[in-house]
Amino acid sequence: MSQQPSHIVIGAGISGLSAAHYAARGGQTVHVLEADARPGGCMHTHSFPALGGYWVEAGSHSCFNSYGNLLGIMEQLGILERATAKAKQSYKLWRGGRRKSIVSALHPFELLRSLPKLFGADKTGASVREYYGTGLGAKNYRDLFGPAFRSVICQPPDDFPAEALFRKKPRRKDVLRSFTMPEGLGEIPRAIAETPGVQLTTNAIATAIERDADGYAVTCADGTRHRADWLTLAVAPDVAATLLTDAAAEAAAIVAGIGMAEIDSQLLVLDKADLGVDALAGFISVDGEFLSAVSRDFLTHPQLRGFAFHFPGDRLDEQARIAAACRALDAQPERVRAAACVRNRLPALRKGHGDQVTALDRALAGGRLGLTGNWFLGVSIEDCVTRSRSEHERRFGALPETTSYTPATAASPEPR
Ligand SMILES: Cc1cc2nc3c(=O)[nH]c(=O)nc-3n(C[C@H](O)[C@H](O)[C@H](O)COP(=O)(O)OP(=O)(O)OC[C@H]3O[C@@H](n4cnc5c(N)ncnc54)[C@H](O)[C@@H]3O)c2cc1C
Repeated sequence: MSQQPSHIVIGAGISGLSAAHYAARGGQTVHVLEADARPGGCMHTHSFPALGGYWVEAGSHSCFNSYGNLLGIMEQLGILERATAKAKQSYKLWRGGRRKSIVSALHPFELLRSLPKLFGADKTGASVREYYGTGLGAKNYRDLFGPAFRSVICQPPDDFPAEALFRKKPRRKDVLRSFTMPEGLGEIPRAIAETPGVQLTTNAIATAIERDADGYAVTCADGTRHRADWLTLAVAPDVAATLLTDAAAEAAAIVAGIGMAEIDSQLLVLDKADLGVDALAGFISVDGEFLSAVSRDFLTHPQLRGFAFHFPGDRLDEQARIAAACRALDAQPERVRAAACVRNRLPALRKGHGDQVTALDRALAGGRLGLTGNWFLGVSIEDCVTRSRSEHERRFGALPETTSYTPATAASPEPR
């Protein structure tokens, strides 16, 4: 992009890329600055060249037919037809150093007694523990659902806002219920980064933002300076708080209170013959060293199986993480064919988060600065894209509906 862009986006995760896509489709020239060497953020498919390009999802692994805004973008880019069905597998529990079935942790009578309370209850302002502990029963929450929610958000779930964990979204019946892509979900951010009108610069760490009469100037760690009339931040709240200190002090002060959960995602690949477990979706860990694990068994390979084990950040070294994963998989660490570790970060939202977002939106109202991310509506990919869309519409007006379908009335309980 030789001339000055009209819009700068900081962060090339799905939030920033969807914001860039909407802006470019509206006729703007958009420059996306990404700190990492690749786009996608938590939508990261890790490929192992030494294993013929066999890949494992290091972060998000599933998209759903309830992701209407994401599906609309995929349709515009002509990649929706690449959506690929995932083979249906079950999760296992990892408890007391043993694999167990999910139903083994269920207290069915308590569930039956409690469920009517769930249907009548209002999530607004409630924490996950308050809402689901009552609606599913205290023992069910302790033994099964609490650990399952911890697996979903990779952090203790008790104080997380119930509204941000699961949101109802209409389903598209013409799209696979749950899908991946032939080369993994990382295909999606890569395709969005190629939207005409979007220029992506990787290894560009934004370090400072200044406001001038008509817009914003962004300085990067390598000393480069970029200027545009419009600016969208699509980074974690701690990064946004630092970057906005001078340019938008009120917004920065609100955002500064939002914490982050650090996650070490340990990827490993083994030969099928070296594993003692049958195909599975992954593990919900009740008391293990890892928080959760997701397998790649949803797309079978003739010889290999891959896994991502998610651990609390900075707790164990790689050798200890691989040993813990191999215990759950009934495999020998020395038989691991390939391994890699990826750092993921997710927001640690707390009860009352909705009020923070309302205050933030008030501070942003009428301005040229937009904020998007997985810390507004919830952490799912669709929550990110929905926020990017609403930030676009706040500043540039309503977008035309992109899909020709009629939303189904069925509501999706998917968290992601
Ligand atoms: C293990 C895991 C599994 C998940 N599974 C699913 C799933 O199956 N389905 C689902 O819907 N969701 C899932 N999610 C959630 C979802 O993937 C994320 O919430 C979403 O991808 C976050 O996108 P984002 O763009 O808001 O943030 P990120 O992906 O974190 O992107 C932020 C980007 O900003 C960049 N950045 C940071 N600082 C700077 C700076 N100073 N200058 C420039 N760039 C900067 C970062 O490098 C990063 O690329 C999962 C998340 C995790 C961690």
